[in-house]
Amino acid sequence: GPSPEANDSVRAWLAAHAGGFGHFIGGETVLSAGTKLFAVENPATGGKLADVAEGSQADVDAAVAAARAALDGWSALPGHARARYLYAIARQIQKRERFLAVLETMDNGKPIRESRDIDVPLVARHFYHHAGWAELVETELPGTRPVGVCGQIVPWNFPLLMLAWKVAPALAAGCTVVLKPAELTPLSALAFAEICRDVGLPPGVVNIVCGDGGTGALLAGHPGIDKIAFTGSTDVGRAIREATAGSGKALSLELGGKSPFIVFEDSDLDGAVEGVVDSVWFNQGEVCCAGARILVQEGVADRLAARLKARMARLRVGDPLDKSTDIGAVVAPVQRERIAGLVATARTEGGTVWQAAADTLPAQGCFYPPTLITDVEPAMTVAEVEIFGPVATLTSFRTPDEAVQLANHTRYGLAASIWTQNIDLALDVAAKVKAGVVWINAANLLDAAAPFGGYKESGFGREGGIEGLSEYRAQEYRAQVTSEAPA
Ligand code: NAD
Repeated sequence: GPSPEANDSVRAWLAAHAGGFGHFIGGETVLSAGTKLFAVENPATGGKLADVAEGSQADVDAAVAAARAALDGWSALPGHARARYLYAIARQIQKRERFLAVLETMDNGKPIRESRDIDVPLVARHFYHHAGWAELVETELPGTRPVGVCGQIVPWNFPLLMLAWKVAPALAAGCTVVLKPAELTPLSALAFAEICRDVGLPPGVVNIVCGDGGTGALLAGHPGIDKIAFTGSTDVGRAIREATAGSGKALSLELGGKSPFIVFEDSDLDGAVEGVVDSVWFNQGEVCCAGARILVQEGVADRLAARLKARMARLRVGDPLDKSTDIGAVVAPVQRERIAGLVATARTEGGTVWQAAADTLPAQGCFYPPTLITDVEPAMTVAEVEIFGPVATLTSFRTPDEAVQLANHTRYGLAASIWTQNIDLALDVAAKVKAGVVWINAANLLDAAAPFGGYKESGFGREGGIEGLSEYRAQEYRAQVTSEAPA
């Protein structure tokens, strides 16, 4: 393998937990004799990596109680004391970066180059950034207090990064958390639990309960929780919204997307091609803000398609632990079948499907080739439904107005990417596209300091920056405010 020491240390860690991984509750590993376990697989091989405890009502109760017991002490710490823990966590993530990258790649299937150069560095960055906020929160958000105990539910596409997006701001804000990783990819969260223990984080500040949607529902419905933060599918987001309605819980939802990638005819086409690579074929396309809906101006549509195909033919699909791999394994067979089903539907609805290297895919494991679907009309299924795989659709437009209209023809509104050399056109279109983030001549740029989140069915609330931090602070109740005369 490319990094044999890290691979060996991950294997040793998994072997040391051959009896099963427990939850992390109140600073302790909780795995009782009668606990139900579920298997976690490596999607690139189909092999079993570990057995992990499935959270019951009793486990969720215990985790919420631990978070509740830790809340007063944690929120009463001066900001600089909370910052010290966040800095310590960030440093430990950097120290263990190779271990975490290999573990994430084995569990999720993403290329090691991405987990090593993108996921894990962004995780450390998120903790460093929020360590700074821990010191500033009282002066920068006056009149607020920590929301309280937070239930956090994350998906499988960026397991550790989505954990960081949730845990770092909550801790900085003075909240305590119960986090549930996705059942397909719980392992990096369990490695993170060890970091919390090793830096001496007070017990109960971070609790991790594993399990599937059933465990997630127990968390979402738990009366001891003050706020739910969820990232995942729009359907589950809707269920959580219903489950929390009227409960008084605060709620933020980061859901699906169908983001447009708009290419005007004056754009640097080679740049746009690389933008599509970063946008659609990054992380096997399992990216909520993937610009998988390419909208291209008529005059350059054929040229763009030709250059994309040439580029796609050079993308290497295969062993995620190989440093030269561009596209790894899709997270699970059920996702690969879903992607294949949507591509088949595109064929029957009149789309033209082009796939690179389909015959060079590894014989075993959960792989899907990079795919471009041309002749896509706005009413086709693949133009409307989030594919969440390495598949882009291509639709042409004539005028900027038509581009805006097509871009907004979606129930989502997470992100958009605009390619042109004309800054007036770029800014005009950016203002008209309804998306939480708009990139110009770029794609998938994410930073801890910038808020990220959606419009419409992509959800509400923001993560990152002071906006994301604010989600974990509530207005302080002041009795005298109600007795003041309105201004
Ligand atoms: P999912 O909604 O099935 O699962 C997400 C998490 O919710 C998992 O931990 C799962 O166990 C849990 N869950 C499932 N049912 C639940 C329920 N009834 N109550 C509480 N929790 C429940 O989504 P997924 O398939 O894991 O992830 C893919 C989806 O996530 C895509 O639609 C993608 O767009 C979206 N996503 C959005 C963002 C964003 O920031 N907006 C980021 C990543 C992924």
